Amino acid sequence: MKISDRFRRPKKEISREQLANRNMLRLTYVIAALFAAMILYEGWFLAVDREAAINSSYNPRLDNFARKVIRGEITCSDGSVIAKTAVAEDGAETRTYPYGSLFAHVAGYSTMGRTGIESLGHFYLLSSHVNLIEHTVKELVGEKNMGDRVVTTLDLELQETASEALGDRRGAVVVMEPATGRILAMVSKPGYDPNRLKEDWSWLVSEDNTSGQLLNRAAQGLYPPGSTFKTVILLEYIREHPEDYGDFRFDCDGTYEDGEYTIRCYHGNAHGSQTLQEAFANSCNGAFAAIGRELDAARLADTAGQLLFNAELPYSLEYSRSSYAMTPAADPWEVLQTSIGQGRTQITPLHNALLASAIANGGTLMRPYLIDHIENAGGDVLKRFSPSACASLMSEEEARILTEMMKGVVTDGTGSAVRSDAYTAAAKTGSAEFMTGKETHAWFIGFAPAEAPQIAVSVIVEEGGSGGSAAAPVARSIFDAYFAR
Ligand SMILES: [Zn+2]
Repeated sequence: MKISDRFRRPKKEISREQLANRNMLRLTYVIAALFAAMILYEGWFLAVDREAAINSSYNPRLDNFARKVIRGEITCSDGSVIAKTAVAEDGAETRTYPYGSLFAHVAGYSTMGRTGIESLGHFYLLSSHVNLIEHTVKELVGEKNMGDRVVTTLDLELQETASEALGDRRGAVVVMEPATGRILAMVSKPGYDPNRLKEDWSWLVSEDNTSGQLLNRAAQGLYPPGSTFKTVILLEYIREHPEDYGDFRFDCDGTYEDGEYTIRCYHGNAHGSQTLQEAFANSCNGAFAAIGRELDAARLADTAGQLLFNAELPYSLEYSRSSYAMTPAADPWEVLQTSIGQGRTQITPLHNALLASAIANGGTLMRPYLIDHIENAGGDVLKRFSPSACASLMSEEEARILTEMMKGVVTDGTGSAVRSDAYTAAAKTGSAEFMTGKETHAWFIGFAPAEAPQIAVSVIVEEGGSGGSAAAPVARSIFDAYFAR
């Protein structure tokens, strides 16, 4: 007798019935284990891999979801549908955009690649959390379940107002809440009709097409900041003269001579004797050229860096990095140009909106965001996104001083277009030269009410002329619409 035999259990007779029961039990265990594994995997996928899944432009798992789930809707904050999937009788799905080009850049598309919120919310749009019974029934009969709904922070009325105010001009508008970072509107012109993307694609990407309709100018368009950059110069001047910036005086005769170089005020206007506040309100180029010449270039570069030039923006979609290139070795001409927002400095309308928001929010930049919450097709909320602070761009005191100065732009300077009895706005305009012989790009950044800011606006109108006459009225329409509620 072998030793192992001693431990062998005596054989028992097993009936057919018992065997069947045992097999059935085993099968149940296997199925239960499989379910457990699936649930664990799904849970792991949801919890751990969500970020990777969202960020991956091609994720085979998500494309598998598309076979089981009808891509969910994207809506405005009030529920107005920006994007939805229509299903024909033969099961063919068509992504449609009821507002045509109105939300084209910010909502994006999901047919010729993926951009905008279609890309940002891809994972959610292809996840389905309809109730379990409905889900199971649909699975059993082989029908697709409805994907979850992405409810954005976008405000239909403000988006329409911004779009109408820009009209047929090229440019961009960004509207956001400084205290939360919610993006309320993002418009870029010229646009395209996302419903006709396939038909129009070859023209949209053609080399002969110089309109750049696919470019989201709001986040990707790089422009010289023009006089909106005077907020940066002003901040640096206050930092270098904390005690005596109030003593600043400059006598403007319309031109500023520096050796062989001449800087002119807009249209050669002579502003006369200027305090710092007046020079900022009137956007006096001479005064800011003089300030720029005496600033510490290394410290100015640090301040520009703190204000997110040459840096990543806290923004989850496609954008361009703003650039500030001046070094302490720069020649006088570059210093003069940089001081008035020309030269090699470039910024996006989105970045300028973030700067205005940070000033409005006591120096703290809130992370800009576009998705408010995710809900299932039945409207049950699954996940909410909350505001979060992401950087301190300046001290509270500095933000307070800049706000005062920006109020002066509206009450006594180039921002008079947003002067209203209904609200007090704070602003800075700009007219940025980009090519000799061309009309300047018109800029506006600002917020209202100045004492307790609720919205911040950034506007650029390409070749629009002066910021005060071309861009500020666009902001005016937005402020008026917002504060008429
Ligand atoms: Zn001047």
